[in-house]
Amino acid sequence: MPDFPVEGGCQCGAVRYRLKASPLSVYNCHCKDCQRFSGAGWSMSAIVRDGDFELLSGKVDQYRRTADSGNVIVMNFCANCHGWLWNDPPAAGFKVVRAGTLDDIDWAEPVGNIWTDSKAAWAKIDPALVNFPGQAVDRQPLFDAWTALTHKDT
Ligand SMILES: [Zn+2]
Ligand SMILES: [Zn+2]
Repeated sequence: MPDFPVEGGCQCGAVRYRLKASPLSVYNCHCKDCQRFSGAGWSMSAIVRDGDFELLSGKVDQYRRTADSGNVIVMNFCANCHGWLWNDPPAAGFKVVRAGTLDDIDWAEPVGNIWTDSKAAWAKIDPALVNFPGQAVDRQPLFDAWTALTHKDT
């Protein structure tokens, strides 16, 4: 694990943010929305406490996406380069940071997968990880797996 704080940002460099402490978990999301927004087979999500996230610079544009459940998820993008940076989920107190925007992602190893029902046929899921066919209704197993991974060397 790195020494916190760590930083990340968008491609053009206008938006910079800081994580003051470790995320609660890092996992892959294979939902169709993440495929569309990332342009890839899945996106990497880092769940962080609101209080551990600090926006350092840059102007952010927001897009309000209504999920199938009816919940509104606020998506945050750099106003200049439009890089996707983090989501504000309906549940208060957390942000879901796109882990690939961290300056260093070597330590941000996903411990699980969600929405595997909509994954690409060729995407291989490690059965040893914490996997959900849809939404992680209870994220605690993802939190526990992250704690186990990040404490195994200490
Ligand atoms: Zn930018
Ligand atoms: Zn997703």
